[in-house]
This record gives sequence, structure tokens and C-alpha cells, in this order.
Amino acid sequence: MQPLQPARGTQDLLPEAARRHRMVSETARAVGELYGFAEIATPIFEFTEVFARPIGETTDIVAKEMYTFKDRGGEDVTLRPENTAGVVRAVLSNGLIQSTPLKFFYSGPMFRYERPQKGRFRQFHQIGVELIGVAQAQGDIEVIALGSRILDALGVRQRTVLELNTLGDPESRAAYRDALVSYFSAYASQLSEDSLRRLDRNPLRIFDSKDDGDQRISTEAPAFAEYLNAASRDFFSRVCDGLDRLGIGYSLNPRLVRGLDYYTHSAFEFVTAELGAQGTVMGGGRYDGLVEMMGGPAMPGVGWAAGIERLAMLIAEPPQPPRPIAVVPIGDAGEAMALIVAERLRSAGCNVDLSYSGNLQRRMRRANRINARAAVLIGEDEAARNVATLRDFDSGEQSEVPMDLSLHDLRARLQAFYS
Ligand code: ATP
Ligand code: MG
Repeated sequence: MQPLQPARGTQDLLPEAARRHRMVSETARAVGELYGFAEIATPIFEFTEVFARPIGETTDIVAKEMYTFKDRGGEDVTLRPENTAGVVRAVLSNGLIQSTPLKFFYSGPMFRYERPQKGRFRQFHQIGVELIGVAQAQGDIEVIALGSRILDALGVRQRTVLELNTLGDPESRAAYRDALVSYFSAYASQLSEDSLRRLDRNPLRIFDSKDDGDQRISTEAPAFAEYLNAASRDFFSRVCDGLDRLGIGYSLNPRLVRGLDYYTHSAFEFVTAELGAQGTVMGGGRYDGLVEMMGGPAMPGVGWAAGIERLAMLIAEPPQPPRPIAVVPIGDAGEAMALIVAERLRSAGCNVDLSYSGNLQRRMRRANRINARAAVLIGEDEAARNVATLRDFDSGEQSEVPMDLSLHDLRARLQAFYS
């Protein structure tokens, strides 16, 4: 029989990969706390309506990437493809909207039915932040600064470029939309099927197309800058000024639109050249219309999400956990005592690997394989005298340790292995 395989686009995180993922999410969580962002965890699946309208029918996500199904009770549910809509849903369901500004951090799996490739999976993981209830450009600036600082803490900021654009307020967007409709209509016969669909409903989305033909046509399209009203221009210049004051470098990209429908004003991405086609490690922007669209009051918001898999590929190898101490019993009396010794050593703060079976040689081979720092050997004789033989694998030295030592003294005896 063939061994069972994971579903396409999913992957097992073996310990080395899991350590990298954890490094990314723990670093982000800690830096988030510096900025006052508290962790929130929303369900991995929601009613489909939570995502469908807010994300937008013309987006790739809703048009072809969602894992949507009827559950056994006939409810229409979807595995979350992103977490902003879920966080806003949670804010509304829990009546938190009264206590703005709200600052949330999250980390967890997302699901999109995509063509798997390097840096692109069907189950992937994101960290992200949402700042809800702040209309000022200070919000955009702080959220970007937080993203930048996380990338810095992970050692990858220098290898990314922050691309920045504005999508303006609804008035500017409507004016720009009209301009795009007339521009792209002239090329209707050359546009991809997807983009033709976007033409009526959301022509801005055409910039987001991965089709080469669409992208060629897009290069000559009118620029948003010419359609921004004064208020939108002013807002954008405040964001840029703030980033300048903080010394956060960026490059303006007038073609940057985000994949989701609900963005207004700032849109940004941190992009690296080191991951080939999947170079965007973090993306976000302002979503002033989202809360209201989801049934809440008019309420601004800004945030970003970053792909953990992509960041995990960029970071340096995280430190290994401390080398364990192998507790190696010999014979029945040794085994009985080993359980207790292992627990005492753990109480003294040591990582302990208890060897369960095999002759002495086999057990020592395992100690070697797990890169143990030392072995604690307990045979008949040791058990009878309530001592253990401590063998330092690095120096080869061997000594006897009484097992009635206090935890404090035991810790002192083993201190050398952990410095
Ligand atoms: P792309 O243009 O690469 O499809 P997107 O615009 O769909 O990206 P977002 O929805 O903005 O991506 O998600 C934010 C981040 O999450 C991305 O910048 C990326 O790092 C990560 N991400 C998105 N989709 C995937 C995926 N299928 N596999 C791995 N990481 C992903
Ligand atoms: Mg995508």
C-alpha cells in the first residue's frame, strides 16, 4: 500500500520548520505588545457571508479560492481565507465596537484553493494586526512602523522594500473608477476573461491580475494620483511625512492595489527579491468602509497580514532548544528509580530524555543521536545507594551525584551544562 499523503497544498511542519514558524509568530507577538496590540483568536471557519461580500466577488479569493461547503447541518460555511473580516465580525459579535480604538494581533492558519508553488500553499499561516477605530494617519503610520519593526526583529527588513500607494477616499475612487472603465473598455477584446468581468464591477482589480496581457495593458492606464481629491492627497502626504519622520524608507508604487475590495487610502506591501514570484511578505492598508459593510457603524480601520511560510524561509536558523540530559537506567531497580530521577531533574530545570528500552549500548546510541549533553546512569548498584552516575559527554568526565540533594543543589551541580 502507498503511504498516505497530505492533501495538495498542505504541508507538515516537522520540528525544524515548526521552530521557524514559532520564531516568526512569537517575535511578532512580542513586538506587537510593544505597540499595545493584544492577541485575538477567531474561529478557523465562519459563515460564508462573513467573507463573501466584504472581501468582494471580483477578488480571486472569493471568485475561486475559498474552501466553502455545507456542513452536516446544512450551514454554508467557509474556511477563513484571511482574518480581517473574522476580526471585524468578532468585534461586532462581542459588542467591542464601543471601546475603540481596538488593537489586535493574530496568528494562525488560512485556507485558499490556489495553485501550490514555492511560498504559496492551500493551507498557509499568517500573522496580522488590526487597528480599529482610528481615522488619523497616525494609525497607518504606527501600523506600518510595527510591521517594519517586526521584519527588523526577524532580520529581514533590510532585504525588503516597502511599497506604498493610496487608493483614496470613496469619492476619489469613484472618479478613478470611471477613468479606468473608459481606458480599459478600449482594450476589452484583449483583456483576460477575469479582467473583463472586473471591468464593470471593479476595474481597479485589473491591476491585481497575474495575466501578462492584462499587466501590459495596465502599464499605460491613467494614474490614481490625478484623480485624488484634496482630502485624499492630504491624508496620503501625512502618512508619507510620518514615515519620513520615523526614518522608514518606502517607494511609491501607483500600481499597487491590494487583493481585497475593502481598502481605502493607504495600501502597502513589504516585498523581497529573495523569494521569486512570491515576493510579498506582508501586505495591508486602510479599510474604512469594512465595519459598516459588515453591519456595524461607520468605523475606520487599518491593518496588515504577513505570510509566516514566506518569512520563515527568510529568517536565520532559530536557536535549538538546550541539549537534553539522557537518563539511562540499567535493570529493573534502575528503571524504577529513573522515572523519579527524570522528574527531579525536570523540576531542577533540566531538559530530560528518559530512555525507555534496549540494552545499555542501544540506550547510549540514542543519547548520542539526540545530542544529549550528559547522561545520568542508574544501575542496580546506584539504585541501592540512591545515587546516579553523571557522564559529561563533552569532557568525558564522570562523577557520582547523590539523589537526595535539594533541588537547589542539584541545579547547582548541573549548572555547567546550561551556561
Ligand atoms: P498574492 O498576490 O501573493 O496572491 P495576496 O494579495 O493574495 O498575495 P494577502 O491576501 O494580502 O495576499 O495576504 C497577505 C500575505 O499572506 C501575503 O503577502 C503572503 O505573504 C501571504 N499569503 C497569501 N496567500 C498565501 C498562500 N497561498 N500561501 C502562502 N502565503 C500566502
Ligand atoms: Mg492571492
